[in-house]
Amino acid sequence: MKGMIVINREFCKGCLYCVDACPLGVIIVEDKFNEKGYFPAYPGNPEKCTGCAICAQMCPEIAIEVFKEEDE
Ligand code: SF4
Ligand code: SF4
Repeated sequence: MKGMIVINREFCKGCLYCVDACPLGVIIVEDKFNEKGYFPAYPGNPEKCTGCAICAQMCPEIAIEVFKEEDE
């Protein structure tokens, strides 16, 4: 099973809950501010994502969308 996440960088407030929550280290932090002045989270290691959605459950800004691909 493989997953993919999309993070809305303008919704993100840089709390890093998702970075800490991801068991596989998929999410890292951007080095550029978003419009709110936060360093937003970014899926820097997307190939590791399983689509478990723990990151999205942790996000207080509902900034993370999770997509999941089932293996045949
Ligand atoms: S869906 Fe799971 S594996 Fe993928 S980034 Fe979120 S917490 Fe990590
Ligand atoms: S949990 Fe949400 S608001 Fe916090 S850093 Fe991650 S994407 Fe941004």
